[in-house]
Amino acid sequence: CGIVGYVGSNKTVDVLMSGLGRLEYRGYDSAGIAVIDEFGVLNTAKKAGKLSALTGELKAHPINDGTTGIGHTRWATHGGPNDENAHPHLGDNNKLALIHNGIIENFAPLRDELLAEGFSFLSETDTEVAAVLLGREYQRVGDLAEAFRTIVARLDGAFTLLAVHQDQPGIVVGARRNSPLVIGLGEGENFLGSDVAAFVEYTRRAVAIGQDQIVTITADAVTVTDFDGNPVETEEFDIAWDA
Ligand code: GLU
Repeated sequence: CGIVGYVGSNKTVDVLMSGLGRLEYRGYDSAGIAVIDEFGVLNTAKKAGKLSALTGELKAHPINDGTTGIGHTRWATHGGPNDENAHPHLGDNNKLALIHNGIIENFAPLRDELLAEGFSFLSETDTEVAAVLLGREYQRVGDLAEAFRTIVARLDGAFTLLAVHQDQPGIVVGARRNSPLVIGLGEGENFLGSDVAAFVEYTRRAVAIGQDQIVTITADAVTVTDFDGNPVETEEFDIAWDA
């Protein structure tokens, strides 16, 4: 339902949690974050219920902070609102984390295909199918943006997807179809959000991402392509309203 992504030298857990707080108005039933920590290890925390439940979880079981992360508030469509179904979902032997807004209509045949290959699932969500599919493709190509280009061609429905992989620290990759995603441009840091509320506390400079496009952010660069990998023109705009 709500999505935030971050690369930069601020405290990533705080940036993600404050972004999710600003997206609370959309409504949600669960929340979670994934951060690649200073040792290059992917850590996740997720919890059904209010953001305060996730805050409590992070107090009870703190995760190492880092410079790269993604955060999600979920409005369940496939699978009830419990801890297992909360995002992020993992792929590539827990080295990749993915969050999703929307619905992947053809998740059932994709899940059957992956089950037949020996992959297993921890949740009842349509989203975990995308995480496992992306992980399988990452193993083949070793690059998150390239892996995204292959898997989006196989997904029907509406999705904003963000993912991080611990073997590519310092980048967040996103893809969107029929569901919104916006870039926030900072100084030595960049953001992604399902809307500008996710990062308006930190920057007023934004770039909209068009239909069927893939974005890669690092701390100091932003790249947007179409689903075939061709670069696309982007236009920066100022966020006009008061934070
Ligand atoms: N369809 C996904 C799920 O049920 C994502 C829902 C959302 O947009 O939050 O987990």
